[in-house]
Amino acid sequence: MAIRVTVWNEYRHEKKNPRIAQIYPDGIHNAIAGALRQAGYEVGTATLDEPEHGLTDEVLARTDVLTWWGHMAHREVQDEVVLRVQRRVVAEGMGLIVLHSGHLSKIFTRLMGSSCNLKWREVGEKERIWVVETGHPIAQGLPEYIELEHEEMYGERFDIPAPDTLVMCSWFQGGEIFRSGCCYQRGRGRIFYFRPGHETYPTYHNSLVQKVIANAVAWVAPVGGPANNFGKKQPLEPIGER
Ligand code: ZN
Repeated sequence: MAIRVTVWNEYRHEKKNPRIAQIYPDGIHNAIAGALRQAGYEVGTATLDEPEHGLTDEVLARTDVLTWWGHMAHREVQDEVVLRVQRRVVAEGMGLIVLHSGHLSKIFTRLMGSSCNLKWREVGEKERIWVVETGHPIAQGLPEYIELEHEEMYGERFDIPAPDTLVMCSWFQGGEIFRSGCCYQRGRGRIFYFRPGHETYPTYHNSLVQKVIANAVAWVAPVGGPANNFGKKQPLEPIGER
């Protein structure tokens, strides 16, 4: 059965800024969703202004992997929905891919337990994303590095806990570096943070960026281990008196 992905997008910049709407006429979510469908996944989308941000219990129950893009309206995301997503990841193993400015989203900062703050600059400089963990499943089929002619800069320090595995690292023309492909396990769930994707550049139309996200979907997808089993239990073997 195909992995079921829900692509979540704040979907505000595209409605407010004609320049951004030109790059993503159907929204960032549909650019990402289209690429993931091409990769063979079963894909739905959800956006901030839908009831419950499109992330009802029913939607999340049939989501194996959630991708998250947000920026200007992080604070408008209801805490109840954030807790619901967190529970699905940590207790039930739903995969989560956090993209670009999603680093300051409620869901990512909760799961990381740190500010997730960073340096930034928007002058459209070149980014070179180096694949540093070449044997990782997310690196499958990638070249040694991915070049994006124009991107926003994110620089260290990025205030995250040390990733379990750092798969990619970015260099920027202005001199900064950044941990741009970070893997985490939180409870039963896997999380991947992927840096590029500023709204004023066509980054999500780049086939290598699409490939990273498609690979990451496969990597964060639930592994189907035994369900959590808590509470007082009878012994499995008879225990003699001591
Ligand atoms: Zn940005």
